[in-house]
Amino acid sequence: MDLTYPTEAEDFRAEIRQWLHSNLPDGWFDDGFELDGPGRHEFNATWPQKLFEGGWICATWPEEYGGKGLTTMQGVVLAEEFAAAKAPMRGDFFGDTLVGPTLLQWGTEEQKKEFLPGILNGTTRWCQGFSEPNSGSDLASLKTSAVLDGGEWVINGQKVWTTQGHHADYCFLLTRTDPEAKHAGISYMLVPMRQDGVEVRGITQPDGTAEFCEVFFTDAKCPVDNVVGGVNNGWKVANSTLAFERGQSATTGYRRFAEEYRLLVEQATANGTIDDPLIRQRLMEYYTKIQILRINGLRNLSATLNDSKDFSVIALGATNKMFWSEMHKAAMELALDIFGPESMLIETGPESGGWPGALRDKRREGYPVSSMMSSFFFSRSETIWGGTSQIQRNIVGERVLGLPKEPKPQQPTS
Ligand SMILES: Cc1cc2nc3c(=O)[nH]c(=O)nc-3n(C[C@H](O)[C@H](O)[C@H](O)COP(=O)(O)OP(=O)(O)OC[C@H]3O[C@@H](n4cnc5c(N)ncnc54)[C@H](O)[C@@H]3O)c2cc1C
Repeated sequence: MDLTYPTEAEDFRAEIRQWLHSNLPDGWFDDGFELDGPGRHEFNATWPQKLFEGGWICATWPEEYGGKGLTTMQGVVLAEEFAAAKAPMRGDFFGDTLVGPTLLQWGTEEQKKEFLPGILNGTTRWCQGFSEPNSGSDLASLKTSAVLDGGEWVINGQKVWTTQGHHADYCFLLTRTDPEAKHAGISYMLVPMRQDGVEVRGITQPDGTAEFCEVFFTDAKCPVDNVVGGVNNGWKVANSTLAFERGQSATTGYRRFAEEYRLLVEQATANGTIDDPLIRQRLMEYYTKIQILRINGLRNLSATLNDSKDFSVIALGATNKMFWSEMHKAAMELALDIFGPESMLIETGPESGGWPGALRDKRREGYPVSSMMSSFFFSRSETIWGGTSQIQRNIVGERVLGLPKEPKPQQPTS
C-alpha cells in the first residue's frame, strides 16, 4: 500500500492548516492550552459561524447545494487536519451526517433547496425517529401511522430513544403508510417537531444527562411533499441513512481512541497499575486494535479512491461498527480497572476535565459523574445504537458471507 498522498492533497492540507491557524483562538496549538469558562463559551458561540463562512461544514457536498464540491481525497485531508488540530468540524450530526446525505441521494430538487441550507448554516436541528417501543432491531415492524387527510399527512404513534429530540426542529421519521405491507409499507417523512401534535419527554440516564427522548405523535401534521424517496419506499431510504450512521470517517475515526489509550497509559504509569501483567496485556490489546482500525481505514480509503469492489473491503465496511464499538466497550472497562475507586470522583480523567469523545449533553440534575465515567456509560450503548452487534453479525453472515438466513420464530397456531 502506498501511503503517500498526492501533491494536490498536500497543497490542500497546507491551505487547511493555514485557515485553522488563522481562525482558532490564539494559543490553541501551544502545549497545555485550555480555554477557560468564558473563552469556551465565546468559542462555542462563534465557531459554527466561522466554519460556515469557511465553507467547511459538509464541504464534500456539490457547490449547487452549498458545499465546496471537495473530492473524496480533499474531504479526507480536511477531516485529518481538523482532527489533528482537535478543532470541531460539525454543525449538527443528525443533519450533516445522516439526513443531509440522505437528501442528496434521495430528495427532490425542492426538498434539497428547502432543507439543505438550514443544515449547512446550522439553523435547523434534526432528530432521527426510527425506533419504537416494540420495534428496534426489527425496525420494519414499526407502527407509527401516517394517513393522508386532505392536503397533509396526519401522524399518530410513539418513537423512543430519539436522540436530541428536545432540541430538534425537524424529525426524519419512519411511518407506516400501508398497514397491509411490512417493508414495502413504510415512508420516510420530514416532520416539523415544533407543533401541538408532538410531545417530547426526555429520558434521564444514570449520569444525569437526558439526551434521548420519547416522542409522542397525536394527530401531528406533515406537509404532503415532505416524503423522501416516494410513498412506501421508506425502507430503502432508511437503509441509506443507516449506512451513513454506521460508517466512520476512514482515516480519523481511530484518533479519539489513540488519545484515550495515551491517557490510560499515563494514568497506569502514575498509579503503578502498569506493572500488573493483565493490565499491560489489555493495554496492548487496545493498542493493537486501534492500529488495526487505523490501517483498515486506510484500506477503505484506497478502495474508495480506486473504486475497488474487492470482497474483503466490502466485508471490512460491514464489520467496522461492531469492531470499534466492542473494542471501545472493553477499553472503558479497562479504564475503570486502571483508575480504580478514583473512577467515582468527579474530577477523574485528564486535567482539562474532558475525555476524548465525551462531548455529550451537559450534565443536569441527578447523579453527576466525570466525563471519563460518562464515556464509560456511553460505551455501553455503542454496541446498540445504529444497529446492535448481533444484528451487524446477522448482516455480515447473510449479506456478505451468503450464509442461510436466520430461522424465524414459529408463529403460534390458533
Ligand atoms: C444511545 C442510544 C441512542 C439512540 N438514538 C436513537 C435515535 O436517535 N433514533 C432512533 O430511532 N433510535 C435510536 N436508538 C435506538 C437504537 O437504534 C435501538 O436501541 C437498537 O436498534 C436496538 O433496538 P432495541 O433497543 O429495541 O433492542 P431489541 O431490538 O429489543 O434487541 C434486544 C436484544 O436482542 C438482540 N436481538 C434482537 N433481534 C435479534 C436477532 N434477530 N438476532 C440476534 N439478536 C437479536 C439485540 O441485539 C439486543 O441485544 C438509540 C439507542 C441508543 C442506545
